[in-house]
Amino acid sequence: MPPAAKRVRALKRHLVAAMRDLREAKRPDRLVQPRTSALEGFAAEVVRAGCALCQGACCRGGGTHAYLDERTMARVRAERPEADARAILRLYTEAVAPLGFVDSCLFHGPAGCTLPQPLRSELCNRYYCNGLHDFLKEKDEPETVCIVARRGAAIGGRVVLSRLPAG
Ligand code: SF4
Ligand code: SF4
Repeated sequence: MPPAAKRVRALKRHLVAAMRDLREAKRPDRLVQPRTSALEGFAAEVVRAGCALCQGACCRGGGTHAYLDERTMARVRAERPEADARAILRLYTEAVAPLGFVDSCLFHGPAGCTLPQPLRSELCNRYYCNGLHDFLKEKDEPETVCIVARRGAAIGGRVVLSRLPAG
C-alpha cells in the first residue's frame, strides 16, 4: 500500500534530527565512514533476486528511520557538498517505496529496497542474512543458484538463477 503521510513525516523528522546531530558534532569529519561498495555481476543479481523473493524480512525493523543517523548524513553530505539540507530531505522522500508494507521500512518495496545504495546506512549496505552470506563467501562462484524463500514453515517462493547463457 502507499506510505501513510504520518510515516513519511516521521522519516523527515528523523532526518532533520540526524542532520542536527551532525551539525552539533565536535568533529563531523570523523563521522564519515567509507561506503561499502555495491556488489556487481552475478553476485548482485543473486542478492537482488533473493531479497525480492524474501520480501525483505530483515528490513521490517527499518520502520521510519531506515537506520539512518548522523554518520550516514556525514557521508551523504561529504559526497554531495553542493546539496543543502532541503535537497537531501528531498532525495530521501522521493526514494520512499510508492507501494510498501505496513510496519516495515518506508523504503521496503515489493522488489526490495528503493533507497539507492549511496543513501543507505552502512548497516544496510553491509548486512547480509546467513543464506546470502554463505553464498557470498563461496570461493568459487556457483554456476547456478536456487533460492528458496520461507514464510514460516511454508515455502513462499523459489527462483533459479544461472550465470551461464541459456541453451
Ligand atoms: S538480506 Fe536476507 S533476510 Fe534480508 S531481505 Fe535479503 S534475503 Fe531477506
Ligand atoms: S533502507 Fe533498504 S535495506 Fe535498509 S532497512 Fe530500509 S528497505 Fe531495508
